[in-house]
Amino acid sequence: MSLTGAYDPDNIFAKILRGEIPSVKVWEDDRILAFMDVFPQSEGHVLVISKTSTAQNLLGIDADDLAAVTAAVQRTARAVTRALSPDGFSIMQFNGEAGGQTVFHLHFHVIPRWADRPMKGHGHAPMADVEALKTLAAKIAAALD
Ligand code: 5GP
Repeated sequence: MSLTGAYDPDNIFAKILRGEIPSVKVWEDDRILAFMDVFPQSEGHVLVISKTSTAQNLLGIDADDLAAVTAAVQRTARAVTRALSPDGFSIMQFNGEAGGQTVFHLHFHVIPRWADRPMKGHGHAPMADVEALKTLAAKIAAALD
């Protein structure tokens, strides 16, 4: 997918937003959904997306929606770090197929990191157990501001 192609309303995250495929939600409001990555690169890997923008990537989102998403990324990272006590965390965001993006609805990755645990590669992590994701999501949600 190029950086400037049309938004596909049938991408996986659009289907998750419409409730057509399941996801393990951490939190949501009118503008934002934060949910567990089903192929986590690290325990507690959360994705944060806009409900109101159909930007494919960082180039297409308007400033107001971007402000809401970045505030949501910070809120999520605070909860993840409180809940799981990692040594650090990575915020990742990929743009265009050549940039490593595989789902073309703009999203930010919140990935907790531990000094003694290598992070799995992007696109190379196995599918997680859904019950384990639900447990993590509940723990993170309980630590939200
Ligand atoms: P990207 O490669 O576009 O930056 O990130 C897409 C992310 O979506 C990947 O980390 C991948 O593991 C995750 N992902 C792909 N399919 C699904 C799915 O059906 N459900 C969830 N929760 N995550 C998905």
